Amino acid sequence: MTEPGIIFKEIHKYSKHAFELQEHIGRIPRQIKAQKTRIERMEKEFKDFQDHLKKLKVSIHEKEVSFKELNTKVAKLQKQQNEASDNKAYDALKIEIGTTKAEISKVEDEILLAITEQEEKTAALPEQEKLLKAAKAEAASIEKNSTDRKAELEKQLTETNALLKAAESQLSAEHLPKYLRIVQSFKHEALSPLEGKTCSSCATEITSQMMNEVRSYLFVACKSCNRLLYLSEQEERVFRESEAADEA
Ligand SMILES: [Zn+2]
Repeated sequence: MTEPGIIFKEIHKYSKHAFELQEHIGRIPRQIKAQKTRIERMEKEFKDFQDHLKKLKVSIHEKEVSFKELNTKVAKLQKQQNEASDNKAYDALKIEIGTTKAEISKVEDEILLAITEQEEKTAALPEQEKLLKAAKAEAASIEKNSTDRKAELEKQLTETNALLKAAESQLSAEHLPKYLRIVQSFKHEALSPLEGKTCSSCATEITSQMMNEVRSYLFVACKSCNRLLYLSEQEERVFRESEAADEA
């Protein structure tokens, strides 16, 4: 029968790997969602851009109508001025003509400004459309890759969980319930390799007696954090080398 300390090392390897795989799998839907949000935002921006252009067109038309009306008004006022019977009426019309001409000049400036903006925005439209299209294609490709990656990781997770179960099933009937209780509390962090004489999880030093037990691959739990202890690859090598040196 395989000693617990050897099984622990296996279990920890698989449980850590399974945890990492789960974390990775969990991140994928969030990444896909982020892409979708990005595209939605870009589509909204593009639509706003188009709407703005439409509004600009309407506003130019309105200003042109107003420009014509004001010119008609000036012509009418000038006619009235020419026909004015007294100086008072003549002067009043002169003032009104001046105000209307100032209005015309203002509307004319506004039309010019709006037309310039319309031209610039219309010229930029194809580029905006191209950028949106490229971003959509990129997002679709990311989603496809992420979905494939997720399927691959899920396959790896199933395999790793099977290996984990197989390793766990090697524990004796006496050790298994104790092990399961600790796993329930600590999940993938239920096992802790030693660093020297120290539990790597809680940094508590273990006794020499416990050290001997861990080196004999017995079922040993840290007295401080209750995690199950095992020799790390490196500690095992150090220990075997010192044993070999003692024998020589
Ligand atoms: Zn500990």
